[in-house]
Amino acid sequence: MLVRALGYLIFSSQARPRLRRPALDGVLAMEVTLARNWAKSRTRGRKLHSTGAKARVGRASKNRADLERQLEACKREIANARERLIEATKQQTATSEMLRIISDSPLQSVLETVAEHAARLCDSNNAEIYSLENNLLRLVASYGELPVHIHAREGFPLNRDRVIGRAICDRRSIHVHDLAAADSEYPSGSSDAKRQGHRTTLGTPLLRERTPIGVILFRRWEVRPFSDNQIALLETFADQAAIAIENVRLLEVEKQRTLALAHANRVATMGQLAASIAHEVKQPVAAMVTNAQAGLSWLGAQPPNLEKARQTFGYIVSDGMRAGDVVERIRDMIKKAQPRKEILNINDAIREVIELARGETMKNGISVHTDLEERTPPLEGDRVQLQQVMLNLVMNAVEAMNGTSEVARELLISTRKTESDVVLVAVRDSGPGLAPETLDHLFDAFYTTKPGGLGLGLSICRSIIEAHGGRLSAKANVPRGAIFEFSLPAAPDIAKQPAVVSAP
Ligand code: ADP
Repeated sequence: MLVRALGYLIFSSQARPRLRRPALDGVLAMEVTLARNWAKSRTRGRKLHSTGAKARVGRASKNRADLERQLEACKREIANARERLIEATKQQTATSEMLRIISDSPLQSVLETVAEHAARLCDSNNAEIYSLENNLLRLVASYGELPVHIHAREGFPLNRDRVIGRAICDRRSIHVHDLAAADSEYPSGSSDAKRQGHRTTLGTPLLRERTPIGVILFRRWEVRPFSDNQIALLETFADQAAIAIENVRLLEVEKQRTLALAHANRVATMGQLAASIAHEVKQPVAAMVTNAQAGLSWLGAQPPNLEKARQTFGYIVSDGMRAGDVVERIRDMIKKAQPRKEILNINDAIREVIELARGETMKNGISVHTDLEERTPPLEGDRVQLQQVMLNLVMNAVEAMNGTSEVARELLISTRKTESDVVLVAVRDSGPGLAPETLDHLFDAFYTTKPGGLGLGLSICRSIIEAHGGRLSAKANVPRGAIFEFSLPAAPDIAKQPAVVSAP
């Protein structure tokens, strides 16, 4: 929260149009110079009249006509300059507003929006954003018509052979009128240009307090150099975008740290839980085995001792009940642990979980889709616990789909608001689905079909959802896969208030 607040403060103070840049400086300076020249030439004109020599009257009136023409030209230039100034200010305000709005979105959509806005701002066919990590320039977002260079996503080494590398090394914009004809200056960049067909190219570094964090590359199909005004505008934009990108990145690192901590905590708690459960259950289970062996030998005796056998089976039943009680007690403990209460937007919480699991979903070739109803009512609950439930369901779906090779791996997460102010969250996958015998035991503690599984995930998820006044259930997906769905009631006292519109 603190980081977000700080980020916003830094961002809004930078968001004002800055007059340092030539785009605005230039226009203002031009107005002043033009006005001064006009004043000088007027004075000169007056002096001429005051000499009063008749022979010079003709020349004087010619001078006067010249001066009036100059005045008209000055007026036109001032009007044009004003228009450009207004236009530049409008564009900068729009840019600041756009960056402010997206500063709440996930990093990837911030980068894509920045690339699109940058390309439109200077009328280039294509804009790409490269991030600088460990001396590698890696393509992280692109917008426009050019195909993505196959190596760009893996990263280009930082050197002066390409415009992007040069912009980083020199910490300034590099403008090449025709990259295809600049072999000696940019050997790699020029051969890329010949292959891909772009000509005029501009690289503007993304600087965070003079330290480069990346570069925006603009390209045009034809030789059509960028104007000084466009370059100045793009540099201002790049400065603002660098702040926005860095703030969002820091915010995500912070969020991931919080969730990772919660996850580590949960794993540790689960480990402790498992150890104490194992300890408590071991004793009745050992007694059950001993009694079962005794029962078998009473039955195998000649003649069988049915009375003794009945007695030992009775012991087995009560030991079994004891083991069941232990598990039930632990479930109760989880249920009674009071969740921390805060008002939250479930869609935003879900988006964060999707980002968190993006590494796993990408690694396993799973396409993630969302269908989030934007006007869901606010909920009251423990954000971290509810995100743990989501993360568990998502990871279970990922693991289930890992076993499927011939069908598309798809994960769909949706939210719906019912008429009774309840929010329904569903996680659908295209995995193998739930066998009937699995369906009956899914939520039982220690039920698992995975070799390394603990079988506690769904049981804990159900306890968390019930502690929030909701329900968690599972059913078959169509045409294949599983659906895990949970309901959560809207926050009680504000259920009647207008819905919270989540971050775009
Ligand atoms: P674990 O993941 O440790 O096995 P869980 O309680 O999370 O524990 O899951 C219990 C069992 O439910 C899993 O072992 C698996 O058989 C089944 N399961 C959970 N999610 C899915 C799913 N999306 N598709 C198919 N089976 C699932």
